Order: sequence, then C-alpha cells, then structure tokens
Amino acid sequence: MKNCDLCNKSISVSEMTVIPGKDFQQAVQGGFNPFTTPGIEMSNNITFSLSFPSWRQMVLNDTSNWGLCQNCARTFRSVIAGFEKQREIQSITPQNKKWFQIWK
Ligand SMILES: [Zn+2]
Repeated sequence: MKNCDLCNKSISVSEMTVIPGKDFQQAVQGGFNPFTTPGIEMSNNITFSLSFPSWRQMVLNDTSNWGLCQNCARTFRSVIAGFEKQREIQSITPQNKKWFQIWK
C-alpha cells in the first residue's frame, strides 16, 4: 500500500496516479493550492506541520514525482485544465499578437 501525497489516503499502487515532479511544480507555481482547493482534503499530517507557503517552498525544492489518489488526481487535473484555459485566453489578447498579425 501507498499513501496519497496530498490527502494521505491509503491506496494500492494501481490506484495511484503519478504526477511528474516538474508538472507538479509548474502547477504550484501557476497558483495550485491544495490547501484551499475544493475536492482535496489535505492530510492533517501536512496541515499541522506546514502552512501553504512552507509547503509550496518544499514542493519547489523537491523534484521527486507525486503519487496521488484518484480523487486528488482528478481535482489536480481539473485545476490544471482551468489554468490552461486562462493561458489560452491571455494568449489571444492584442498585446500578444505576432508582428505579422498586427493588421488583423
Ligand atoms: Zn488524495
């Protein structure tokens, strides 16, 4: 048995979703905060000893992969999908037009 790295739920290896450390760091840098994300119950082990800023610092200093339970992985993915949608919206603002699109 393994434990989910966020909610600490016991899961079998086959139930675990592995998130590459780099992807996870990118998500946290992009604003992912599991302490306040609805749908993720952060483990008391974590919330008793760490505040979000210190947890975030720990994540950014640690490149190892993350193993999440199905529930946390689903929530993580939907948060990331939201970030990507925002980025798409930002990328079509006029300031980001390429020089050859300036007349459009
Ligand atoms: Zn979990």
